[in-house]
Amino acid sequence: MAKRDYYEVLGVSRNASEDELKKAFRNLARKHHPDVNDSPDAEEKFKEINEAYSVLSDPDKRAAYDRFGHQGVKGHNGGAGFETVDFTDFADIFGDMFGFGGFGGRSRTASRNAPRRGADLQYQVAISFKEAVFGTEKEIEVTKDETCPTCGGDGAKPGSSPKTCPKCQGRGEIRQTRQTLLGSMVQVTTCPVCGGRGKVVEEHCPTCGGRGKVRKTRRKKVTIPAGVDDGTRIRLAGEGQPGENNGPPGDLYLLIRVRPHKYFRRRDNDILLDLNVNIAQATLGAEVKVPTVDGDVMLKIPPGTQPGKIIRMRGKGVPYLRGNSRGDQLVIVNVTIPTRLDHEERQLFEKMAEKMDSEVLPQERGFFDRLKSVLGG
Ligand SMILES: [Zn+2]
Ligand SMILES: [Zn+2]
Repeated sequence: MAKRDYYEVLGVSRNASEDELKKAFRNLARKHHPDVNDSPDAEEKFKEINEAYSVLSDPDKRAAYDRFGHQGVKGHNGGAGFETVDFTDFADIFGDMFGFGGFGGRSRTASRNAPRRGADLQYQVAISFKEAVFGTEKEIEVTKDETCPTCGGDGAKPGSSPKTCPKCQGRGEIRQTRQTLLGSMVQVTTCPVCGGRGKVVEEHCPTCGGRGKVRKTRRKKVTIPAGVDDGTRIRLAGEGQPGENNGPPGDLYLLIRVRPHKYFRRRDNDILLDLNVNIAQATLGAEVKVPTVDGDVMLKIPPGTQPGKIIRMRGKGVPYLRGNSRGDQLVIVNVTIPTRLDHEERQLFEKMAEKMDSEVLPQERGFFDRLKSVLGG
């Protein structure tokens, strides 16, 4: 029988991507694996699929095959299509079907008894704007697993002790070696008797029900450093869930949420503040009281301040998390135009209007000079 085209075998186009090839191969390999497919030609078919994939998944061989056809790759592949197949890939494909822990000589070492790192925990901590600026101490409630105080973690009722599992002799897993056309295959499954722990408890601890651990909620004081921002994550190393089988504990993360402030907004380490001044203050200049995170401070508004002007107050911003300098407070000046005038104010503005009647904008200097002379009396 003539050899079929490799692309045809896998049912993909000649310009199929690596991913498409892999996907097609996986689907076909699952369908035609002789362990799941009883039809008499399953083994032949499976070999054919493997051969096609082993060539097309290798860029050099694929290029040779594209140019010269089967002749181009003959030497590499003399019929034994399996040689080039990556065994880990196979374990990957069939692992979920059969529970194979490994193929051939290679086996997965991730046994149930291996040390495992504990899980990370995350808690949200809401703080005020000023607490974010100056730092604070908060108390949070952390719930995590702790070693059961009654049984000391082995899950056995006091007075009794866990016994080595008779089914797996303490290994926690059952291995079976089988001969298949892929070579010898080691099938590893978790021991059904002990659930992988290697020990069986005959009488469960009444406190933890045999789990060896209990969930405990404890109050914990945490320090929030000055300068944190909304969304900052603080890592407390080793404060997460305890590890399994003497593995290290996980970490605890604090996710900082900063409540918005009535006046202050934040841009990195600067604080923005909108400040309203009236038309006279903007024109003539003034000294006004402005809030800062350190308390009220007198700020000079220079004469002739235009709406939207930004006045920088150095060092009145948020401290940098690293280092000991601070950002600035930026005051954005908004000039309010009066909407209601009493009799006297109206007269003054009318007088001003007369004076400025001939004025054509944007001759701003002339405008303000006149305004000054009117308001200044
Ligand atoms: Zn216990
Ligand atoms: Zn066992």
